[in-house]
Formats: sequence, structure tokens, C-alpha cells
Amino acid sequence: AVTNGSGDTAQPPASGDATEEKQVSKEEESLLRKILRSKLVTTKADLEVLRKDPNSPLFSVKSFEALNLKSELLKGLYDMGFNAPSKIQETALPSLLADPPVNMIAQSQSGTGKTAAFVLTMLSRVDTSKHYPQCLCLAPTYELALQIGQVTELMAKHMTDLKIKYAVKGNRIERGQKISEQIIIGTPGTLMDWALRYKFFDLRKIKVFVLDEADVMIATQGHQDQSIRIQKGLADACQMLLFSATYDADVMKFAQDVIPHDPITIKLRREEESLDNIRQYYIECDNIEDKYNAISNIYGTISIGQSMVFCHTRKNASWLAERMSKDGHVVGILTGDLAVEQRAAIIKRYREGMEKVLITTNVSARGIDVEMVTVVVNFDLPILPDGKPDCETYLHRIGRTGRFGKSGIAINFVDGQRSMNNLKYIEKHFGRKIIKLDAEDMDSIE
Ligand code: ADP
Repeated sequence: AVTNGSGDTAQPPASGDATEEKQVSKEEESLLRKILRSKLVTTKADLEVLRKDPNSPLFSVKSFEALNLKSELLKGLYDMGFNAPSKIQETALPSLLADPPVNMIAQSQSGTGKTAAFVLTMLSRVDTSKHYPQCLCLAPTYELALQIGQVTELMAKHMTDLKIKYAVKGNRIERGQKISEQIIIGTPGTLMDWALRYKFFDLRKIKVFVLDEADVMIATQGHQDQSIRIQKGLADACQMLLFSATYDADVMKFAQDVIPHDPITIKLRREEESLDNIRQYYIECDNIEDKYNAISNIYGTISIGQSMVFCHTRKNASWLAERMSKDGHVVGILTGDLAVEQRAAIIKRYREGMEKVLITTNVSARGIDVEMVTVVVNFDLPILPDGKPDCETYLHRIGRTGRFGKSGIAINFVDGQRSMNNLKYIEKHFGRKIIKLDAEDMDSIE
């Protein structure tokens, strides 16, 4: 059965009649990652540390005990199943918790332990016997703010007096009231109003200011200016921290604007994906029916663990899912019209092995780790809006990072000359041969 068939797809979609998949926003992409995240992402890459003051060398810790945390916090960490600091935490935490506090800009890919690091910093510095805001955390959206709040609540499980307030649209406070919660997590617009316009709390009493997901933040108009206006209201002694999953010029410019006084900068580069262990093939097809036959032959011939099939449009994806499930395959379908939570649920089912085939459009190319996927089928080659081949997406769909030395198979369907040109372009771009397969004779694949 199809987990999300849309129904009206018995006829093959006419080519050109493309229900283009909508673009997934950075906020959504980030939220999906957060919801899905089940464990720490580890990497072999080395940490880079930039620091202006060579007289106070950074040190790193290998255990949480070495950080002299409050006992209830240490308990909270152990309850969460954290045994030792992650790579970025090893180096970041001693500085984050040092006195006098230092400012920091830290970049590492999603899942490497940034949130846990700054939540721990807020919780170590907060004084729960005082009933006013002492820590401020900016996030790009309500949903992302809630994700941070959940981590904070878990970690603060044994800090009984700790309270969190969410500064998000729709959360109203009466004029003249003062906020008593010690930690405020929210979006820049609402926080700016609360702090500067309504003065629901005193910015100058904030001890820790965190700006999370700076790269997602700057994608939204207005967030930069609002964040900077909030930051300008902070006391000089306030510890200011910025976290980002990516590290490009725009993010760094913003980071430097909003985090003053020569912050320590920590970078953990992400491991590059590569096609090294991937065998790539292509099959020539005349039309979508032909592609369907090729898919049937693939699944009929080779034994496949888990596989993903990428389509260009939602319509193709639904059509294919329906056809395959009629033929008895257990397939999941993932498209961009679904809410983030629905997408997360489908990905989880697939990860748990409930479906062996996941049919999808580009929306799911990010956020899923394809470690366990042995076969990727490009039902349609990835193309950019201008029709040129999209090499980055291609790599993302089928590439692996070095640490999973596992091998994989990629099968590309090619229909027509333009599609063939695109395939040749991709082949040349990566300098890796894509071998022709005969749709009727899959045996040569293994
Ligand atoms: P990021 O903010 O970089 O995306 P998170 O702090 O959310 O990363 O951590 C990613 C995942 O790893 C979460 O599931 C979190 O609970 C877990 N995690 C974080 N730090 C540790 C640690 N030291 N030990 C074990 N798991 C951890």
C-alpha cells in the first residue's frame, strides 16, 4: 500500500504537464532535520579554532565531569544519555563556561551538538532563585524555538525552579507586565517588541545571548536587523554566542556584526560526500511507461535492501507510487506538499524498514541520511530551474561521506537527447564513468 497516494494518477502524467515541486524553505529543512535527529553526528574532520589572544590558549575536555557543572545539570545530561562531549563540545564548552565569559561564533553541521552546548551554557549561568529573564535565545521560527525549548526542559529536568518563556507571535502578555521566567526563547521580531517596545523584561540583565541557526535566520527578511537591535540593548558583560550550520560570507558578515569583541570562532567542516564507492549506471528509456518497465525489471531482478526513487515532479512521484503499489511493492511516498511533521513521520517509517522503497521528489534529498540505502534510482535526472543538470543535487542524492565506506548503486533513467546530454555533463563533472545498462538484462549490474 502507498502511505500517501494522492489518487488521481492512473494515467501516466503527460510530459510537460509538470506539477513542479515547491521549494522547501531553509526553516523547514532545518526543522525536518531537528525532528528526525535521533543521534549525534560524528565526523572525522578536524576542528579549526580562530582566536585573537594567543596568551590564553584554549583547552578541551574529554568528560562532562571536568567542567565542574552543577550536579543537577550533570544528572540531566546523563539522563539524556550523554556520556561524553561531542567533538565541538570538547573545545567549545570550556570556553563557553569560563569566567569571565567569552563571546563565540561556532559553525558545524546539523546534529553535531551545538544546541546541547549552548543550552548547557544557559543553564549553568542561570540563577533560578531570581525571577527575571537572564538568558535569551533567538531562533528563526516558532517551531525551531520549541525544539530548543524541549532540549532545555530535558536538560533542566533536575533544576526544579527553572522556567522557560516562548517569545513567538500569538503569545500575548498584558501591557505593563514583567516576565518572570529565567530563559526566553523566541523569534527576533517578537523578542524585539517584548524587549524594546513593551519592556516586558530588561535586556541589560541578560547574561547569555544566543543566536541559533544564523544561516537560516538571515534567509528571512528583517531578522538580521531585528537581531542586531536586540543585541545593541545588551550589557557589555553579556555573553554573546552565535551558531550556524554553514559558514559562508553572508553568515560570517552577520556573525561579526552581531557578536562583538573578538569572539572565539570555532569551525568544524562537514565531511564531503563523494561518489567513490558508488557504481553508476544509466538506462535509456523512450517514455514514462518504458521507465516503469525498467523499474519493474530492476526490482524483479536484483535483490535490493532499501532504495530511493527520485522523480522530478510530484505528479510523477504519485503516479509511480500508485503503479508500484498495485504491483505489490510496499512503497512510501514523500513530497513537498506534506507538512514537515508528516514528512518526518514517513522518513521515520522508512528508516525503520516499514517500506523498502521510498519514492520522492527533491524535497527529501536533504535531511535524510542515505547510509542504509543501497540503491538510488533517478527516475528523472535532477535539473536546475533553468533546465541545466543539477550536479550538487545528484551528488547529494547518491553520494556518501567517507566514513560509511559502504558501496551503493545509482541507476539513472535517460529519455531523449537532452536528458542524455545532462547525463554526459554529470559524468564529466564528476569524472566518474556512468555505465550503460540494458533494461531487459539487469544481470550485468551485480
Ligand atoms: P546541533 O544543534 O548541532 O544540530 P544537537 O545539540 O541538537 O546538534 O545534537 C544532535 C543530537 O545529538 C541530539 O539528538 C542530541 O540529543 C545528541 N547529542 C548532543 N550532544 C551529545 C553528546 N555529548 N552525547 C550524546 N548525544 C549528544
